[in-house]
Amino acid sequence: ERRVVIVGAGMAGVQTAVALREQGFAGPVILIGAEPHQPYDRPPLSKAVLLGKAEGSAFEVDFEALAIELRLGVDVTGLRPGAREVDTEAGPVPYDVLIIATGAEPVTLPGSQGVPGVHLLRTLDDAERLRPVLEQRHTIVVVGAGWIGAEFATAAREAGCAVTVVEAADRPLAGALPADIATPMAEWYAESGTELLVDARVDRIEPGRVVLADGRTLPADAVVVGIGARPATGWLAGSGIDLGPDGSITADDRLRTSLPDVYAVGDCASFPSARYGERLLVHHWDNALQGPRTVAANIVDQIAPGSHVYDPVPYFWSEQFGRFVQYAGHHTGADAAVWRGEPTGASWGVVWLREGVLVALLAVGRPRDLAQGRKLIEAGARLDPERAADPSVPLKAA
Ligand code: FAD
Repeated sequence: ERRVVIVGAGMAGVQTAVALREQGFAGPVILIGAEPHQPYDRPPLSKAVLLGKAEGSAFEVDFEALAIELRLGVDVTGLRPGAREVDTEAGPVPYDVLIIATGAEPVTLPGSQGVPGVHLLRTLDDAERLRPVLEQRHTIVVVGAGWIGAEFATAAREAGCAVTVVEAADRPLAGALPADIATPMAEWYAESGTELLVDARVDRIEPGRVVLADGRTLPADAVVVGIGARPATGWLAGSGIDLGPDGSITADDRLRTSLPDVYAVGDCASFPSARYGERLLVHHWDNALQGPRTVAANIVDQIAPGSHVYDPVPYFWSEQFGRFVQYAGHHTGADAAVWRGEPTGASWGVVWLREGVLVALLAVGRPRDLAQGRKLIEAGARLDPERAADPSVPLKAA
C-alpha cells in the first residue's frame, strides 16, 4: 500500500484525508499539523468564536474511526523529494505520496512584530488572545479594510469596542472589488459606528497608539493587522519545488506539483483555470473543500488519467456589518459589470459578463442569486444584460 503523508492539518489537509477514505483509499494516511489543537475551521474565528458565542470550531471528524493518523504540534521543516521524505523536529517522515496543505500566513506590518497589543487573526490562538480584548471593550485600531478587517470590526463593534480602521487604499476591499462597487461599502462602516480612514498609512505602532504617516495619532489599546496572507511555503526552500512569484506552489490542473507524487491544495497552491484562462490563487474556504476531492480522486484512481481536472467556479462568503456578502466566479477589469439593484439598498448585486457569458457574480443579501448564478456560471450560460439588471427577475440563461 502507498503511504500518504499530508502536511498541514487545516481545512484542505483534513478534507484530503477524509476524501481519500471516502473514495476508498485503504492505505496509511498520516496528517501532520504544526498547531497543537484538534484540527478546526477558520471562518468562525472572525465571527462566533471571536465573540465567545462558540467555544471552538473543531471539525467533526472521527480521525480514529477513519484510521487517519494525526500528528499535531509538529512543524515540518523541509522536503527532500529524492529521498521521498519530509523533515520534522522528531525526525524524517517517509512518504510515497505527499500532499502539501500548509495554507497561508498573515502578512505582518513591518516593525510591528513583538510590540505589545498588536494582533493578527489567523489561528485559534489569535482568536483566543483577542476575545478578552473584545470583552474589555478596548479601543481598537484595525489595519486593513479587507475581508478580515471588516469581519473583525463587525465583531468588535458588536462587543461594544471603539473601532477605527486604517486603510491605505481609497476604499475598502480595494484588492478584491472595483471602485464603484466597493466605495459604497464604506457606508457600512459608518453605519455600524466604525471609523474608516482611507488613504491612510501606518507609520509606526507605539505602546498605546498608532502613528499615521501624515502625523495623526490614534489611541489604541490593541491593534489588529489584517493586510493579507501569503502561501506558507517558506519551509519548501531548497526542495526544488516550483513556486510562483506570489509564493504559491504552482500546481497543474490536477493539483500535482512539479515534483513526482507531490500534490498541493488549498491556500498554499495556485492552479491553472481553463475556465478563466489564467492561473488562480484562491484564499477561500470552498477551494479548501473542493480541491481535496480532486487530489484524492487523482491518488485513488490513476487508471483514468486526465479525468480528475480541477477547474472550479471559486466561491466565498463574508459576514460583515449585518450583511451576507457572497461572490462566485472570477472577473477581470475587462468584463462588463451589470448592477442588480442599488448599492444603497439592503439587497443588491453585480453580475459580470464576458462576451455575454456570465463569469462572476457578487450578491449582497441575495443568496438565491448566488445559488442560481453559480450554476449558470458553471454551465457557461449567456445572460441578457437587460433582464439581469432587473433584481425582481431571477437570474436565468438567455
Ligand atoms: P489553513 O487553514 O491555513 O491550514 C493550514 C495548516 O497548516 C495550518 O494549521 C498551519 O499551522 C499548518 N502548517 C503550515 N505550515 C506548516 C508546516 N511547515 N508544518 C506543519 N504544519 C504547517 N473563507 C471564506 O470563504 N469565507 C469566510 O467567511 C472566511 N472567513 C475566514 C476568517 C478567518 C479569521 C480566516 C483566517 C480565514 C477565513 N476564510 C474564509 C478563509 C479560509 O479559512 C481559508 O481559505 C482556509 O482555511 C484554507 O484552508 P487551508 O487548509 O488551505 O489552510
